[in-house]
Formats: sequence, C-alpha cells, structure tokens
Amino acid sequence: MALIDFKCTKCGKKFFEIIKPSEIGKIKCPDCGGDVKRVYEERSIGKHSNGESSGCGGNCSACSGCH
Ligand SMILES: [Zn+2]
Repeated sequence: MALIDFKCTKCGKKFFEIIKPSEIGKIKCPDCGGDVKRVYEERSIGKHSNGESSGCGGNCSACSGCH
C-alpha cells in the first residue's frame, strides 16, 4: 500500500488515496468523477533520501518524525 497523490485533469482537485500500486489506473476524482493524473508532492512518506533533512516535507506525523 502507498499514499499516492492525484490531481483531477477535469476540475483540478488535488487529493490522495492510500492504494495498491496496481490500483493507480482505477482512481477517479471523488468530486466530479473525472480522470486523474498522479502528482508527486514534495513530501514523501516513509522514504528519506540520505542527508536530506526535509525528506518528509514537514509532515512528520506521517513519517514518524525526521525533524
Ligand atoms: Zn474532478
């Protein structure tokens, strides 16, 4: 399971889903049902590059605290 960010190509809504990688192509916009594309937010969950102090983008509640 992974937390994936999406953006709707129709209405522009940004949202995220916790899904399996194989489900990425099945996600639709929760607001308008439009097609979405995957986006890469600055935060990354559970993955920190070595020496990168801002690996989680400040969202330490999701990464068990890297700051
Ligand atoms: Zn939409």
